Amino acid sequence: MRRALLYLRVSDPRQVHNLSLETQEQMCRAYCEREGMEVVEVFREEGESAKTRYRTELNRLLETCSERRDEIDAVVVYSLSRFARNQSDHQLLRRALRGLGVVLRSATEPIDESETGALLEGVLASVHQFENDLRTRRTIDGMKKALSMGRWPFKGPLGLPNSPKGSGLPSLIHDMDRAPMIRNAFELVATGELTKVEALRQVTALGLTTATGKPISPQHFTKILRNRIYAGWIVLEEWGVEVRGDFEPIVGEEIFQRVQEVLDSRGLKKSHHALDNPLFPLRRFVRCAWCDTPMTGNAPNSGRHRYYFCRNRACQGDGKKRVSVRTEKMERSFLDLVENLAPRPELVSLFAEIVRDVWSKRHRAQAARRDRLARRLDELRSARNGLVDAHVHKGQLDAETFREQMERNRSDEAVVKRQLADATQEVPDVESILPFAERVLRDPGSLWEHSELPQRQRLQRYLFPEGLRYDGESFGIAVRSPVFETLGSLEAEREEVVTLGGFEPPSPG
Ligand SMILES: [Zn+2]
Repeated sequence: MRRALLYLRVSDPRQVHNLSLETQEQMCRAYCEREGMEVVEVFREEGESAKTRYRTELNRLLETCSERRDEIDAVVVYSLSRFARNQSDHQLLRRALRGLGVVLRSATEPIDESETGALLEGVLASVHQFENDLRTRRTIDGMKKALSMGRWPFKGPLGLPNSPKGSGLPSLIHDMDRAPMIRNAFELVATGELTKVEALRQVTALGLTTATGKPISPQHFTKILRNRIYAGWIVLEEWGVEVRGDFEPIVGEEIFQRVQEVLDSRGLKKSHHALDNPLFPLRRFVRCAWCDTPMTGNAPNSGRHRYYFCRNRACQGDGKKRVSVRTEKMERSFLDLVENLAPRPELVSLFAEIVRDVWSKRHRAQAARRDRLARRLDELRSARNGLVDAHVHKGQLDAETFREQMERNRSDEAVVKRQLADATQEVPDVESILPFAERVLRDPGSLWEHSELPQRQRLQRYLFPEGLRYDGESFGIAVRSPVFETLGSLEAEREEVVTLGGFEPPSPG
């Protein structure tokens, strides 16, 4: 008999279909029973988010798999969404398991080790990720709408706290203590007679502190002086937003501009090192091939060219100097690499056919499951009538036995109802996902070129789950997304068939 470990975790409490660990366990056990697997141990992750990769129970599970690799055949999860919430996590974990000779099974989704399974698994994992992205997307849309009306939807900056919800006041109001001190700071710097540090010392002496009562650091002070929100503007470059706020500014436009000139003249240029700078989409995603440090981007203050470079000062690159490369050059070779990923168009159609096929099988399997569960529900109901009959009308059951049996019947019914609700849940419509999947497969390069930063970063991670390495001239060997791996192997097979003479398309099964 094959042996399995169960991995259960509570998902995000905001998620709609949030099942208790008990229900998850019941369903995983039922799955193991159907599949003829023995449950060896159950790992329960309680109250932790999948976003922290270092989940303790998960680590324990991986350790157990490694220590007892001869005994363990499978890890069973309730659903792939319980296992990992994004594609790269999913790939990492799955690869770790595969390396130990352990397969991953989902109690509610068909996955197996065949090529078809791998393809579907990739699609399912991406679908889960898209669902997550959509939720974030909706939040962002809401924020953009608030922003366009001049309302600041985030936490207010120092001196401009948020107004109470539903108060009808502007989105930000003045902190009566700090707002005048911040105005004073701007005025001091605007004179051009004090250095920034001197101005900071003065307002600190007046009592200006952070929200938690700590002294303000020089970096924080620069951020305050650079923040146009104090002049009444809402500016979010990455979202293309620049609107007048609905709140009272702390300083006038003129003083704000003068402060910017003073700071500029002292060489305190605006930082181009924001973590997510759209000018450097490959930042951190690409690592130095020589020392493995993530590469960063830089835009010289006066120069026209932008560079990616190795952040490690001690790195010598190929022996002469650190890797540093024009952004255009690296992005061009990145696009070459991505364009090379795209399989032949016929294979993309084949992929679509395979996914449709698997999907329809899944639909049929789910319909069959629904029928089975509905029948089971009927059985339980008539069994209950039988119990009532035996106890009340025929007096064949004593009160205690009756209560016991009724209780068991009801708890069985609850489980079956839960399973039925799950089996009735809409399977994501394959036809709505395929066009996107096909677009990614057919032309990932142009999709990357025409996307905004967050989509670019997501696509990069999807195509190359482990990131890339760059040696100054080119990228090294990259781990491709499993979908491309699979299509690549189909392509190789097909080439073999073609060279052997006679053309025969590879069979999807
Ligand atoms: Zn380096």
